[in-house]
Amino acid sequence: MVMRSPQQGTFALRDVRVLDDHGAFTPPVDVVVRDGVVDRVGAGVGAGVDSRDASERWLMPGIVDCHAHLGCFTTSTDEILSMSVTRWTLEVARNAALLLDMGITLIRDPATSDSGIRDGIMSGAVPGPTLQVSGGALSQTGGHVDGFVPNLGLECTSGFLIPDYPGRVEHCVDGPEQVRVAVRKLARAGVDWVKLCTTGGLLSTMPDRPDKAEFTVEEIEMAVSEATNAGIPVCVHAYGGIGLERAVRAGAKSIEHGLYLSPDQAKEMADRDCWLVPTLAVCEELVRLAKASLIPPSAAAKVREIEPLIGQQVEVARAAGVRIAVGSDLVVQGTNLHELALLNRAGMPAEEVLLTATAGGAELLGLSGSHGRIAPGYVFDAILLDSDPRDMALWTGERPVSAVFQGGRVVRAHESWNSAAL
Ligand SMILES: [Zn+2]
Repeated sequence: MVMRSPQQGTFALRDVRVLDDHGAFTPPVDVVVRDGVVDRVGAGVGAGVDSRDASERWLMPGIVDCHAHLGCFTTSTDEILSMSVTRWTLEVARNAALLLDMGITLIRDPATSDSGIRDGIMSGAVPGPTLQVSGGALSQTGGHVDGFVPNLGLECTSGFLIPDYPGRVEHCVDGPEQVRVAVRKLARAGVDWVKLCTTGGLLSTMPDRPDKAEFTVEEIEMAVSEATNAGIPVCVHAYGGIGLERAVRAGAKSIEHGLYLSPDQAKEMADRDCWLVPTLAVCEELVRLAKASLIPPSAAAKVREIEPLIGQQVEVARAAGVRIAVGSDLVVQGTNLHELALLNRAGMPAEEVLLTATAGGAELLGLSGSHGRIAPGYVFDAILLDSDPRDMALWTGERPVSAVFQGGRVVRAHESWNSAAL
């Protein structure tokens, strides 16, 4: 895996309120950053260091989006099906830059980025968040991400999310042996996560339903077993029902969506240290797209059915003590940060939302020792805000974040710092 080279040098932000481990903010302190890593945090510690005034502002770690699809940028099926892999790659790069500029510094892309995208960004070829990738999502024939094109009779031509290209691992697999080979090939391709779909979905091109189980117990257990051998965690697309339960019992690290999550299922998730990524932002987006007739009628009908339930899984999960992470899952990128406000609307207190979006996400991604906190020894991936981010209305407004840092580099300078770069 390619590692990003740290920004050399030392600078300080002066007199800034910093997110603490309880979701509150410290009184004004200085934050000294050395070679891309937080060096010191405290009153007056920035004296004598090249610094920028950040008084009357709020500093917190960069946002961690644990379910963002860099390869998603259009609602047009025609455009997806006619997409060349070269155009698609550039659209991915555009999305990567957009999300980083918004303040999202760490992303797990469960299905539309591979290790080449990740490593290209990490090498500095294009700007983008630090990435963890799954390289695709495994689906049974006729399952959620089967991209079969009936009138051409072509299997999995475009996946649904990723155009075909040499070396892309097959994602429509049936039977434990095919699952075994696919997971081994994904591991060989250097993925960070394996993703499976154990229920239908909302935007499936095949006729399925979000509460319908996909894959057998044997197939799911095979995927987890092979991924575990390779040291790779498994995340599972599951809305509810037996498909969700099978994934939890097989050892999934996170359940994506979980809209129909029941209290018993939540208890089992908590007992097994399985996280929930509720992806409320995409539900909000799909409701809007359905009203505007911008998604197929079959998907719009499913969206209308689930609309009253959106967010209920957050309450069920929190009551059982299930860990939750932020995931936007958007069809078109741009409103990713709405997820914070939507979690709050679903009952999560603002302080908890801020920790979920930072230290929580870093923990799910196995980076709790290096990312997600503003503390000595942590990578300085950070965002600056001009108003208190506990006011959740901020996150649905225009450009909530006023400066972005990545590994100590200034990705977007505050407009008041129009002089020399740090
Ligand atoms: Zn998704």
